[in-house]
Amino acid sequence: MIKKLFILFIIIGISLFFFSNSNIFFQITHDKLEIDQANVYGESLNISFNDSFENKINLYDQNGNVFDQEIETNEEIDHGIDPLDIKSGKYFLLDENDQLLTSEEEINIDYYTVTRDNKNYNIKLTNPHGYLELEKSKEKLPDGYYDILIDPGHGGQDVGSTGSQGAEESNLNLEVSLKLKSELEEMGYTVGLTRSDDSLPGDECDGISSYCENGRVSQAYEKHARLYISLHHNTGGGSGFEVYSSLHSSDDLASEIVNQLSTELTPSSKETGMIDLGLYNYTFYDEEYMFESDYYYVIRETGGLATKGTSEENLTRSQSPVGSESILIELGYIDNLKDESFHSSQEVQSLEANLIAKAIDSYLN
Ligand SMILES: [Zn+2]
Repeated sequence: MIKKLFILFIIIGISLFFFSNSNIFFQITHDKLEIDQANVYGESLNISFNDSFENKINLYDQNGNVFDQEIETNEEIDHGIDPLDIKSGKYFLLDENDQLLTSEEEINIDYYTVTRDNKNYNIKLTNPHGYLELEKSKEKLPDGYYDILIDPGHGGQDVGSTGSQGAEESNLNLEVSLKLKSELEEMGYTVGLTRSDDSLPGDECDGISSYCENGRVSQAYEKHARLYISLHHNTGGGSGFEVYSSLHSSDDLASEIVNQLSTELTPSSKETGMIDLGLYNYTFYDEEYMFESDYYYVIRETGGLATKGTSEENLTRSQSPVGSESILIELGYIDNLKDESFHSSQEVQSLEANLIAKAIDSYLN
């Protein structure tokens, strides 16, 4: 009898050991699958595999319970794992065949979700024992971190486009940006600007200003922005607005902005790069790196690993595993007399800011 009890205690002991050390439990009972890369674009966590993007990822909590069924990953960098769909806690990641996801390279992803109802979540993806561990916890956004970074294009010596009546693009961009910042702050978001006066961000250094400290690309990383909205006004013989998104992303945010702006403004019908009326991708083929890439550097370089930044000046930045979801908006053509006077109006600028803020809020919620 004592012997049987002794054996029973040993069995309970071993079981408790495995459940309290579920790391070991998972390591022993699951096959392993090496991932290609993990990165963040906006709020979305992407995990890519060497052979396919079609894998589903299962999240297991520490006791081995599968959480909220399965989360599908695909090729669009803003449609990976949505941290808002997951309860706070710690998880192991397995593929659809229950193979434990691992990486030989060190994974150290750490970011905050956008503020909603005064709340933020910290998301961490690490591989301390080789296999991937995801942790979500409720935490306040640290000082110096922003949900949204607004980039008023040009500034200082660089005035951008000019209209025949004297409108300067850099001023128009700043006017709308300041108004957009107020609108978004009223909605409860933490918002920064790459410039708040008539200066060129990053102008103090010798290199290319955008990639210097405080430059408009560097700030996306320095301020940990989840969304990056660059505002411009166009020239080149056309009319109406154009909204550009990354060719690697879905166009959900860009579509929301187009839909909102279309209620009061006319979308451009420029054919180059048009996906839908007012909605654009603009690409170039990078011969050095042998792949098609986003043309606009504020879209390409602020997205980190996910958008495959190419500039050598920005190599450390573009290889960051956490990037911003970036959009560039050309609000109108100011070399067109009608557009120039329209966009110079304070009322129109307020309206544009209001519509863009509504679109962002709708996308985030
Ligand atoms: Zn511009």
